[in-house]
Amino acid sequence: MKKIPFVTRAQAEAIAKDHPTPFYLYDERGIRKNAEDVKKAFAWNPGFCEYFAVKATPNPYLMQIMQDYGFGFDCSSKAELLLSDAVGAPGPKIMFSSNDTPAEEYALAKKLGAIINLDDITHIDFLASIIGDEFPKTMCCRYNPGGVFQLSNGIMDNPGDSKYGMTKEQLFEAYARLKEHGVENFGLHAFLASNTVTNDYYPELAAQLFALAKEAHEKLGIHFAFINLSGGVGCAYKPDQEPNDIYAIGEGVRKVYEKILVPAGMGDVAIYTEMGRFMMAPYGALVTRAFHEKHIYKEYIGVDACAANLMRPAMYGAYHHITVLGKEDAPCDHKYDVTGSLCENNDKFAIDRMLPKIDMGDLLFIHDAGAHGFSMGYNYNGRLWCAELLLKEDGSVKEIRRAETVEDYFATFDHTEFAGKLGVSPRS
Ligand SMILES: *Cc1c(COP(=O)(O)O)cnc(C)c1O
Repeated sequence: MKKIPFVTRAQAEAIAKDHPTPFYLYDERGIRKNAEDVKKAFAWNPGFCEYFAVKATPNPYLMQIMQDYGFGFDCSSKAELLLSDAVGAPGPKIMFSSNDTPAEEYALAKKLGAIINLDDITHIDFLASIIGDEFPKTMCCRYNPGGVFQLSNGIMDNPGDSKYGMTKEQLFEAYARLKEHGVENFGLHAFLASNTVTNDYYPELAAQLFALAKEAHEKLGIHFAFINLSGGVGCAYKPDQEPNDIYAIGEGVRKVYEKILVPAGMGDVAIYTEMGRFMMAPYGALVTRAFHEKHIYKEYIGVDACAANLMRPAMYGAYHHITVLGKEDAPCDHKYDVTGSLCENNDKFAIDRMLPKIDMGDLLFIHDAGAHGFSMGYNYNGRLWCAELLLKEDGSVKEIRRAETVEDYFATFDHTEFAGKLGVSPRS
């Protein structure tokens, strides 16, 4: 499918007048349309709730958009919990799916009334050491089946190698022990494959989790309030990939729900999801300007963003489609490496990519950066975080996070003798 930017060159240039490149730009219209589709695709399940995975794009303005659809938030850190609280999410709309969890964060999750999703059986005692015997009435456990996770088109991922979740034996024991702690409503959660671009992932995962919940219900006599399919619904980063169809996915889950849960008398179980990538990735772009060209053994285009702004290509070799704005229909007859400025040779947004001829000053639209993009940023080489902008439905632009300044970057020296010289107010 041809990838079409959600702004024209003229629009992007107009935005860049007030907001210097690089910047992240999010498309409110696209986000809302997709959220609406997710809601409709699972409307057959009255308790359905998407808990947007905050780590994908931790911005309160984007989180507020999610709230318009009744969605909650999946968190795994103190900052993510605080963001969810700041946008006014009530406890039951916060899922705390953490791992290797600090005591302070369990205490905060409990205080906020969040649903705690235990990553491990040993966390029951750990939690008890923090909150005493005041266990919440509703709690969730994370399952890891081990082995490999396979769909008809091959191996999707390798749960046996992943640090998350409990074995089946531990899971059943954990439920029994939580019941002794007074927990009355249970959830089951698993995340078995990441960035799946197939409509079969959720239905297959759901079939496994539904069968397991049925078994736990029958053996332990516990009530399942929800089954949490977690994240993993992917993005078609490459133009030749067929994007997921959320309606087909919702329908696939409905079929196994009616086959497994309804006959077991478990037709009241709510379906929860924790999608991050699927909710945001296609609706955010990193916009950057070409300002150097270099002709050595290869042709290089230097842009004003770098891997510190978008790490996925450097870290995973991930493909992000690039459109040279204004040259959407020009022939892709030039082969470039598109690079950032880090002193790291993997700081390349594209390698040997066929693109239209790039002229200095051209704006590049790096697609599908709306999730796990800004949020995975870092400060290597003293590079600063860029701004996040929201392109609203009425065409106006709102700065939803300003760019970092050197003063921000130096702020953690505010207690030192260098504070003044670095231009930060000394901490008194
Ligand atoms: C990362 C994560 C998600 C979101 O994953 P996506 O691939 O962005 O959908 C959901 N739940 C948990 C527990 C996660 O760690």
